[in-house]
Amino acid sequence: MAFRRLQEEEDCPRCMNGIEDIDHIICKCSKIKEVFNQVNKWGFGIPLFENLHDCFNCMDHISANNVMILNLFFNVLFFSWNARNKFTHDKENV
Ligand SMILES: [Zn+2]
Repeated sequence: MAFRRLQEEEDCPRCMNGIEDIDHIICKCSKIKEVFNQVNKWGFGIPLFENLHDCFNCMDHISANNVMILNLFFNVLFFSWNARNKFTHDKENV
């Protein structure tokens, strides 16, 4: 986000443990991992990824076999991103 000049700080505002790039947002942020782990405790099987390459490979496989998990993955990501924006811009801790 800092690279695109949308924010001044490079560090992830939610976990403060890494540069907030697409790899961090989807794969490495402790907050998104926490959310995916919580959803998986409810019985879903959203995979956790080490990097974007793994993510894209897995998404190819999942899209052919389990579209519901793919939809859930992107919905969780969308709502997590919304929560991140509220936290960052509105200072709400969602
Ligand atoms: Zn983070």
